[in-house]
Amino acid sequence: MDAHQLPPEEKALLTHELLNQAYKHRKLEPRRGHMHELISTMLSHRTNHNDEEKAYYNMLERFGDWEGVMNAPFEELADTISTTRYPGQKAPQIQQTLRLIKEERGELSIDFLEEMPVEEAMAWLTKLPGVGLKTATLLLLFNFKKPVMPVDTHVFRISQRVGLIEAKVTANKAHDLLLQMLPPEPEELYNFHIHMLRHGQRICTFYSPRCEECVLSGICNYYQDVRAKGIDKAA
Ligand code: SF4
Repeated sequence: MDAHQLPPEEKALLTHELLNQAYKHRKLEPRRGHMHELISTMLSHRTNHNDEEKAYYNMLERFGDWEGVMNAPFEELADTISTTRYPGQKAPQIQQTLRLIKEERGELSIDFLEEMPVEEAMAWLTKLPGVGLKTATLLLLFNFKKPVMPVDTHVFRISQRVGLIEAKVTANKAHDLLLQMLPPEPEELYNFHIHMLRHGQRICTFYSPRCEECVLSGICNYYQDVRAKGIDKAA
């Protein structure tokens, strides 16, 4: 049997192993504080990292702290985060999120998620305005070291091309399927996620994947069924 015909479970483990070799295993350490990660991830939707950071620091400089951001006039907040896409949507979402946290927990902190079981923490986070599955899983994995799999555009695309998931699965389903196939330790999931992100940005890009340089070509459906046969070049 050719390697690309292996079952998805075996390919998922091979993908993880090959990317670990290519990009090196990294220790899972939170890159920023819990509230910082939550609000920055909300700001980052369809926005590059520099513009997201600019918006984040502008906001805190202008309004001082989360209390100030929560009570800021809406137009002023939207103006302050205007380096991001859709500031008019993000400003009220951030303020509503802050109000909900304050109302429910009595303080502007999400440290309590540390002790909360994964399912409950996911449910709590995804009811916040502007917080979807991707933001919730990123926060829970990166900051709270919970065993979840953030499925961003790179994880989704590469998983489909290699054949870990079918073309028509939803992001929610992809999250569950990948979790079932990968080692359950949060640090392993973290490495899988960041390696897929890096691979998607450098090699398996959306428009023209550089398959000839790819360590996954031996197990990849797209490479074996399309690229190796010259089908994509002929189109
Ligand atoms: S072989 Fe090509 S399509 Fe497959 S993962 Fe690598 S770059 Fe992407």
